[in-house]
Amino acid sequence: MKRYSAFAIAREGARYHQGWERAWRAPEPKKKYDVVIVGAGGHGLATAFYLGKNFGITDVAIVEKGWLGGGNTGRNTTIIRSNYLQDPSAAIYEKARALYETMSQDLNYNVMFSPRGVLMLAQTQHELRAYKRTAHANALQGVSTEVISPDRVRQLCPIIAIDGPRYPVLGALWQARGGTARHDAVAWGYARACSDMGMDILQQCEVTGVRQKAGKVSGVETARGFIGCDKLAIVTAGHTGQIAQMAGFGLPVESISLQALVSEPIKPCLDVVVMANTVHGYISQSDKGEMVIGGGTDHSINYSQRGAFYHIEETVRALVETFPMISRLKMLRQWGGIVDMTGDRSPILSKTPLGNCFVNCGWGTGGFKSIPGSGWAMAELVARGEPGPLAAAFGMDRFRQGRFIDESVAAGVAH
Ligand SMILES: Cc1cc2nc3c(=O)[nH]c(=O)nc-3n(C[C@H](O)[C@H](O)[C@H](O)COP(=O)(O)OP(=O)(O)OC[C@H]3O[C@@H](n4cnc5c(N)ncnc54)[C@H](O)[C@@H]3O)c2cc1C
Repeated sequence: MKRYSAFAIAREGARYHQGWERAWRAPEPKKKYDVVIVGAGGHGLATAFYLGKNFGITDVAIVEKGWLGGGNTGRNTTIIRSNYLQDPSAAIYEKARALYETMSQDLNYNVMFSPRGVLMLAQTQHELRAYKRTAHANALQGVSTEVISPDRVRQLCPIIAIDGPRYPVLGALWQARGGTARHDAVAWGYARACSDMGMDILQQCEVTGVRQKAGKVSGVETARGFIGCDKLAIVTAGHTGQIAQMAGFGLPVESISLQALVSEPIKPCLDVVVMANTVHGYISQSDKGEMVIGGGTDHSINYSQRGAFYHIEETVRALVETFPMISRLKMLRQWGGIVDMTGDRSPILSKTPLGNCFVNCGWGTGGFKSIPGSGWAMAELVARGEPGPLAAAFGMDRFRQGRFIDESVAAGVAH
């Protein structure tokens, strides 16, 4: 595959852009692969990429029921940060954040990583104390964060109403190298690199069954016929429970719709990401000028990818307290994605009761930021059959053993 470069843009510009290749192939499924990955979201594609890059395993199919990146990966609000409390979480999210720094160069694809900084507002004394604790933990974990004063918050984000009306801003947890990236581009960049390594991305190919022989996986039934495999990785976010059921085991995961909305585009007025956890909402401004606003999860388990009107009211009402200027904006679009929530709000990267079948799920409301780190760790798990240091704590046995990795505060607001 030809590399993208300034020279290529100039060359194609001179010949009316007739010479660009397709970014990835659309092959027919083979009868069998070494590894089949179910789900062409960011996590599935990143797993495939690092299987090829770190372990030389390229006889891989990524099987997707819709279009690649059409699940939560293309529906999120793109916040990237690694300021988690527990050591295993900080390790995997910081690995991911570091990989985002060089992702455009590594994939030869502009993912528009923008380390503009993430502010998590403290609007109660309790929140301020909790963020001080997180900043201390982050210092020990090698994650660069700091607690900053209301004055500094005002400098970084002049549109905040610092004094109220209900909850004055008392400070914030600031991660200067957190930020955003273009979510589709992350999926497209990985897809192009995987295709370039000879891997097959099979879209419109729903998995409908998992076959096994002598306690080990032997392949998957799909809408495009049976596909055999030596190893299977289930990476389907909100649908992971369904595929696990096909493979004969259950998972401690609930699927719920999480909502987001964007406003009409306006002139640049916000160049950091702000999360206001007390009033519950978060906001950033896209390069197009739209205010990207994150809402909450629905109140009951469901598989809907649609927006719900009451979320606009609830979310905007909450944010208007801290950002009064929002009240003047028209909202443009609203949508939902099916997120997979575990009890401790931490992911599962694990072997399963079925031999050679592995699962990566439970990223819930916050798995965009972790895509490269998760792919890195999952590739190691699939290639070696055992988790490496990044994934070791995230086995599904922890729910039986009571070894929870409680991130309910760090993941308390949907993001
Ligand atoms: C509104 C919203 C806002 C969010 N905001 C943020 C944020 O700001 N920051 C952050 O870090 N995270 C955020 N998240 C969470 C993040 O989007 C997800 O954790 C992450 O994208 C999950 O990626 P994935 O690859 O696991 O899943 P997905 O991208 O959902 O991919 C799974 C794929 O599996 C496919 N699939 C399902 N069933 C089958 C089947 N039977 N056969 C074949 N394929 C199948 C699906 O079609 C889908 O493409 C947000 C999520 C939502 C919904």
